[in-house]
Amino acid sequence: MEIVTNGDPDMTILSEVERYKLSRLIQELRSKKGRGTELISLYIPGGKRLDEVIGMLRQEYSQASNIKDRTTRHHVLDALTTVIQRLKMLGRVAPPNGLVIFCGYIDVGIPGKEKLEVHVIEPPEQIKVWLYRCDSRFHTEILEDILREKDVYGLLVMDLSEATFALLKGRRIEVLKTVTSGVPRKHHKGGQSARRFQRLREQAIHEYFKRVAEYASEFFLKVPDLKGVLVGGPGPAKIQFVEGDYLDYRIKEKVVGLVDVEYTGEEGLRELVNRGSRYIKDSRYVYERNLLQRFFERIVRDSDLVVYGEREVMEMMKYGAVDTLIVSEGIKDRILEVECLSCKKTYKIRVREEMRNLICPKCKGPVRVLSEKTFIEELIELSSKFGVKIELVSPNTEEGEMFLKAFGGIGALLRFNPHASKA
Ligand SMILES: [Zn+2]
Repeated sequence: MEIVTNGDPDMTILSEVERYKLSRLIQELRSKKGRGTELISLYIPGGKRLDEVIGMLRQEYSQASNIKDRTTRHHVLDALTTVIQRLKMLGRVAPPNGLVIFCGYIDVGIPGKEKLEVHVIEPPEQIKVWLYRCDSRFHTEILEDILREKDVYGLLVMDLSEATFALLKGRRIEVLKTVTSGVPRKHHKGGQSARRFQRLREQAIHEYFKRVAEYASEFFLKVPDLKGVLVGGPGPAKIQFVEGDYLDYRIKEKVVGLVDVEYTGEEGLRELVNRGSRYIKDSRYVYERNLLQRFFERIVRDSDLVVYGEREVMEMMKYGAVDTLIVSEGIKDRILEVECLSCKKTYKIRVREEMRNLICPKCKGPVRVLSEKTFIEELIELSSKFGVKIELVSPNTEEGEMFLKAFGGIGALLRFNPHASKA
């Protein structure tokens, strides 16, 4: 698996393709159950000697021989043997990122028909824990933790009337809270003296800034590996706030930029990441936005070096003309391999997200599903077959939504166009 490192050598950021593949795998593993306590989960840290692991599994084997239930005993012993055999083929030590192995007889609903499965995974990020578990399910929690988003910025838009906090996680803006200031407007209409009003107003601003700083600590300090904080808003309040003595120094030193935006609230947050993109250049959000803007620009210019739509993109892949394949994660189609229960033929069919009750296209008989993958997984496989770079983009940004709705969520930037007219 390809790994993208972002500055900090200890921190690896998964590419969207890795993230997609891993989350699909976890989803699949989580759906599997054992008949009894007989599914093995094994996490081996990077660099660990595999003969030691095998030794430990042999001890487990002799203990498992005492299991009372005959089927469970047979299943556990079989699974342990399979894992030991696999480990023997894998060399002397675990690879740098470690190894994760899931093995066992999967309950398919018919007693006696359980199927032995083994999954050997080299995780895209280093695993530091050792774990051996035998349970009625696979323990995927440690793998799931790898999916935790590490590309995170804190966002704050504020003026003298309100402040909104959010996190930019990868390509997603997660709104946390809006607080109102309680600061009276500049021009008062009361009977108080102007000076007294001014003093009260300054006091209210001071209290408001203190509250904003407290929320900033509450929301931003608990984010591990926070990459920076971007602050914006209309007017000078944001500058007064950041330069004043309000923010915790740990947040203050992470402020990467101050940006003028027209709005506060959620609208202001979107403006903030768009206008402040130069401060968060290495975020996935900005990366995808730039990529899609390049795609749209070529469309607008009527360039030869861009195509969209499945058929056109596939054709260009076959010509070797594709530089970057862009696919929206909003595409939910699945590809099923099914076997007809009456005529026994097998078919590959493509279905929309929620389609059930499939029938044989030839004899209309009932079918059973032999295997299933998403269309995106198929595109990932195809792109690696053709040696093409693939980028998965979110449908939830402004550009991403347009890419899905107006272009079907599949497009490509080309290196050359074999059909280009010779002008
Ligand atoms: Zn049939």
